[in-house]
Amino acid sequence: MSQPDRSPSPLTLTGKSQPAPAAAVDGTWLECIECGETFAPFESVRYTCDACDGLLEVRYDELPTFDDFSGTGVWRYADALPLEEGVTTQEGDTPLYRVPRLETDIGVEALRIKHEGMNPTGSFKDRGMTVGVAVARELGVDRLACASTGNTSAALAAYGSRGGMETLVLLPAGKVAAGKIAQASLHGARILEVDGNFDRCLDIVQELAARGEVYLLNSLNPFRLEGQKTIGLEILEGFRDDYGTWPDRIVLPVGNAGNTSALYKAFRELVQAGELAPEEVPKLTGVQAEGAAPMVEAVENGADEVRRWESVETKATAIRIGNPVNAPKALPGIRETGGTAIAVSDEEITTAQRDLAEEGIGVEPASAASVAGLRKLREQGVVSSDERVACLTTGHLLKDPDAAAAAGRDPEPVPADTDGVLEVLHE
Ligand SMILES: *Cc1c(COP(=O)(O)O)cnc(C)c1O
Ligand SMILES: [Zn+2]
Repeated sequence: MSQPDRSPSPLTLTGKSQPAPAAAVDGTWLECIECGETFAPFESVRYTCDACDGLLEVRYDELPTFDDFSGTGVWRYADALPLEEGVTTQEGDTPLYRVPRLETDIGVEALRIKHEGMNPTGSFKDRGMTVGVAVARELGVDRLACASTGNTSAALAAYGSRGGMETLVLLPAGKVAAGKIAQASLHGARILEVDGNFDRCLDIVQELAARGEVYLLNSLNPFRLEGQKTIGLEILEGFRDDYGTWPDRIVLPVGNAGNTSALYKAFRELVQAGELAPEEVPKLTGVQAEGAAPMVEAVENGADEVRRWESVETKATAIRIGNPVNAPKALPGIRETGGTAIAVSDEEITTAQRDLAEEGIGVEPASAASVAGLRKLREQGVVSSDERVACLTTGHLLKDPDAAAAAGRDPEPVPADTDGVLEVLHE
């Protein structure tokens, strides 16, 4: 362990690449974002700083430029990741859909939908797991665990199985969408239903990890966020190829704020590599459900810390989270990029889910929060009409079939003959 020289805030958008500290292995190390303590990356299991319990980040002495990337999917970006290969089912390389009607309706210069529901298990969690499960293998652990609102458990079960490891998931009883439980179940995870909300599940699994019972693969695990950085890299390359410029803003749903932190880290590293000027970094804009909006509260109050909400409620179960663990990484990201955060109602989320469905894009409720938030910010004049925007949709429609059916049209009973069917059609 060593105490390197560091700038006042390690999470600013300026600054050069850092020299590797003594703890580094092949130019890669873990660093505490609070006190700057450094640790060797794969020597022992660690999720937070030994000295101050702060969040850790993976750091590199050399950062790649766009020219260094080749191939497709998450591992296209291997030079920006802590390992050269992962436990993979070809995650990443998701579509960046055009949505001309929605673009006009919301009233921005350009709108693209980065649909993360098109990953192998149907959410962006796969991008983190392909890296996280490979790191677990490197560390030699055999039992993986997570607390989950559903999608993390589906991804952990699939990738853990593929990597030949045992998986354990803690879910809030009665609050996980059907598709997600089905995935965790068939991929062979041991599913423990906790009589409490997600935040309680995470408290428990963190304690299990601290006692050495399991290897933790929630987004508190800094290696998972490395994989999720690739969402930002793909969006940037997509905009560059189609418009010749970077997006002005990226709007995303916020639960534990892992993605917000990961995208911000991707952009910081591109600034350090000289690929982006600080003022070119897209404005990170987080959206939460009104019933679970502690990050929005912190951004609105200009607070440095997020207050834990003990009771949370929303139909968007994937973001039904009252204690976003990555807030210390995500809040500087929102501020430094000139972004903001906004809360939307469940009704606004359902409207956005229908709007996306009309463009042929099927998403689960939490995902639609990004589009609902953009519409609201545009109406408020916070987002201007000349902006080029990417909205992240985080999970697939089939994850939550009940929500989709409730938001969509009802089936109509008809008699079993053509005339009878025509009669109903002509009604
Ligand atoms: C996990 C998840 C989120 C929340 O992402 P964070 O990185 O925790 O903010 C949002 N939407 C869906 C569908 C998810 O599965
Ligand atoms: Zn520390």
